[in-house]
Amino acid sequence: MKLSEFDIDFNKFKNEKDFFSFKLNDAFFELKENSLYQHGDFNIDIQCEKFEDTIILDYTFKGNIKSHCERCLKKIKIHINTFRQDVLKLTLNNDLLNEENYLSVNHPVYSVYDSIYEQICLDIPTRLICENSEIQKKCTIEHLDTKPIEKRVDDRWAELKKLIKK
Ligand SMILES: [Zn+2]
Repeated sequence: MKLSEFDIDFNKFKNEKDFFSFKLNDAFFELKENSLYQHGDFNIDIQCEKFEDTIILDYTFKGNIKSHCERCLKKIKIHINTFRQDVLKLTLNNDLLNEENYLSVNHPVYSVYDSIYEQICLDIPTRLICENSEIQKKCTIEHLDTKPIEKRVDDRWAELKKLIKK
């Protein structure tokens, strides 16, 4: 999977409307430096509609993120089914081209990568825990037995006492 695969060239539009589909896997997240997530599978459908100076992109997301529960560390899968719309403006004004959502009339190519990545991140629950995953069950932290730590301290005291006796 390459970043360039996410470029949509609106010059190639045959009709006013066109459809694009992307099948994402872990390779999608590898393209992002310091990605917040590493594992997931998604089907993304994008309907693009081109008007005189506007392009509307309607995204449909269906898929899941795979991670580990922050609480019990079990493997979890979080389903994400969502929508997004991007509105792009075509312009010849160079100042506007530095702004987001503006495309050059002469070179109307747009990468949907960041929009897809951003939307996935926005729809992921704040806490990656079993409750928010496909199993939707509350989990509990396995409480660590504190006894071995106390014992270790006791051992050290014992060693110290031996030294004092000498
Ligand atoms: Zn859990």
